Amino acid sequence: MSDTIEKVKCLIIGSGPAGYTAAIYASRANMFPVLYQGAQPGGQLTTTNDVENFPGYPDGITGPEMMIQLQKQAERFGTDVRHGWITKVDFSGDVHKVWVNDEKEIHASTVIISTGASAKYLGLPSEQKYLQLGGGVSACAVCDGFFYRNQEVVIVGAGDSACEEAHYLSKLCKKVTMLVRRDEFRASKIMASRVQNTENIEILFNTETDEVLGDGQVVTGVRVFNNQTKEKHEIPATGFFVAIGHKPNTDIFKGFLDLDETGYIINAQPGTSKTNIDGVFVSGDAADHVYRQAITAAGTGCMAALDAERYLAAKDADFEVATSTYN
Ligand code: NDP
Repeated sequence: MSDTIEKVKCLIIGSGPAGYTAAIYASRANMFPVLYQGAQPGGQLTTTNDVENFPGYPDGITGPEMMIQLQKQAERFGTDVRHGWITKVDFSGDVHKVWVNDEKEIHASTVIISTGASAKYLGLPSEQKYLQLGGGVSACAVCDGFFYRNQEVVIVGAGDSACEEAHYLSKLCKKVTMLVRRDEFRASKIMASRVQNTENIEILFNTETDEVLGDGQVVTGVRVFNNQTKEKHEIPATGFFVAIGHKPNTDIFKGFLDLDETGYIINAQPGTSKTNIDGVFVSGDAADHVYRQAITAAGTGCMAALDAERYLAAKDADFEVATSTYN
């Protein structure tokens, strides 16, 4: 354990669009933010190829490039961006205590949580291979569906997300094959019946993925098996979408912050970034199981920085709200 405790005005945990946007606003408001990038610097967008739906990029931008630019923008205003993983927090007292890599202890006046959520994947080596290659595996139909216009795709999952994404894809793609591992949906009746009544969605019940097939660069199909009959067959497809749920990265906050049953942080006051702990704010997918977009994450990052600034201003007479923030 380190014997020197660092004190910071604003600690930002996470380096996706939410964290970097919070950092841009906080640094412009003289809060001298320190941002810890976490295990996946750049967050989920670093697994996305082209981002075409973020306003301001008429020609699109790759996810990794966008994150580099956001980092540079935050650093330009003085954000201290650091490598490191927050392993423990203690929000029980007036001071918000945070430990980095189980060693360094930081006492923060305000904490902005932007730890995001991780899409769950099946874990098949072939799935992971084409995911890493950016060759046709995706966990976000809204982000990537456009690239599969008039093509045939496969989607795995049977919850509300899978139904919503399958329906979204059906409007772009020639055919969507949906793999449901049981003989029924988990999704609500209305969502399930929507996909069942969509002409170009074929639903295969009791069906699981055996392997994602490809030519070494891109996906060309999916081999599936019926878990009742054990029969296998191949489905031609250029896209393989996985919609089996997300896991918010909030384990370290258990016991301090109010979380819902899946682990998403609950906003103490809807329409703000406030949590149940004064001085601790949340932005991005760690509290959002509905929209999950880069632009919504960035928007809530801005909200968290403004809420943190106002909190500091109310608490500390020496800290003036920087008018620049509102310009
Ligand atoms: P869910 O946990 O509800 O569903 C996950 C689905 O993935 C289940 O059908 C599950 O199958 C399936 N699954 C899990 N692991 C595997 C696997 N290894 N192989 C194949 N299938 C697998 O997650 P969602 O993301 O769909 O929804 C999360 C929450 O968000 C829910 O509360 C949902 O209602 C809500 N939501 C609401 C929406 C809306 O109202 N518009 C839109 C999207 C989400 P099984 O059923 O067999 O366990």
